[in-house]
Amino acid sequence: MQRWQVGKVSITRVIEIEDTSMGAPALVPEAKPAAVLPIGWLRPHFVDDSGNLISSIHSLLVLSEGRRIVIDTCLGNDKPRIVPQWNRRQGRFLEELAAAGFPRESVDYVVCTHLHPDHVGWNTMLVDGRWVPTFPNARYIFSARDWEWLDKAPVTALGDYSGDSVRPVIDAGLADLVDPGFRFTDEVWLESTPGHSPGHVSVRISSGGEQAIVTGDLMHHPCQLAFPHWSNPFDFDRAQALATRRAFIERYSGTAVLVIGSHFATPSAGRIVRDGDAWRLAV
Ligand SMILES: [Zn+2]
Repeated sequence: MQRWQVGKVSITRVIEIEDTSMGAPALVPEAKPAAVLPIGWLRPHFVDDSGNLISSIHSLLVLSEGRRIVIDTCLGNDKPRIVPQWNRRQGRFLEELAAAGFPRESVDYVVCTHLHPDHVGWNTMLVDGRWVPTFPNARYIFSARDWEWLDKAPVTALGDYSGDSVRPVIDAGLADLVDPGFRFTDEVWLESTPGHSPGHVSVRISSGGEQAIVTGDLMHHPCQLAFPHWSNPFDFDRAQALATRRAFIERYSGTAVLVIGSHFATPSAGRIVRDGDAWRLAV
C-alpha cells in the first residue's frame, strides 16, 4: 500500500484496478503506441514496452487533524455497467480500506472530485437489494455545480450511476453540495478545476511547509504533460478542460508541490518539471 507524508498529513492509496484495460481510446485517444513510445520517461511506470497506457482507478485516504477523508470512491461492487471490467465487480475494496486504517464507519468525509462512474462507485453498496450509503457517519462532499448538472443529465450507456451511487446519498441526507474553496481542515481544501465536468475540483493539501495536490481528472495520464492538448473524450467542455490543464501545469511546474494523479499508475505522484518545450513528471 502506497503512502505519502505531506507535513502532518498522511495520504494512502487504495487501488481498485491498475492495468492497461482502460486503454488509450477511453483515456487519451491520441496516445497511440507510436506517439508515446518515443517519450522515454513514460516507461516503465506509465506505458508498457508495447506502448499501451497503464492507468489506475484508486481512492486516496487522507488523515488530517484527526479527520478521515476519502477522495473518490472508484467503481464499487455489484454495479451494472457496460464496461466489462467495471460490471458487477466483487472486489475487496472495503477490506483494504479497513486494513489502511479507514474502516467505513470511521470515515468523516467522502469527496468526489467529480460525479463520474469511476469516482462515485463506493459511495453506496448493495444491502438487501437496495443501494445504501457505504460510509454511514460521513458527510459526502459533492460539487454543487456537478450535482446541478448530473441531476438533470439523461442516463447514458455507461449505466445509471447517478441512480445507484449519487442520488441514494442525497436522499439519505448525507450529502453537502459545496462550492470550490470548501475546507475539510486547515490543511486540506478544494480548488476549482472545471472542464472535465462542470464543477470539477482538485484537492489541495498544505502542512508543515509541504504541499500536494490531487488532480482529479483534469489530467488522465502523465503523457498529457508531454502533450497538454491531448484531451479525454469524456470532457464536458473540452476547451475549458484544456485551459484548466495548461494553467495547472504552468502553476505547478518547477515547484515542490507533489502532484498525485487520480488515474496515474504506480508511483502515481511526482513533481512537474520542464522538458524542452513541454513538461514531464519527475517521480
Ligand atoms: Zn476518472
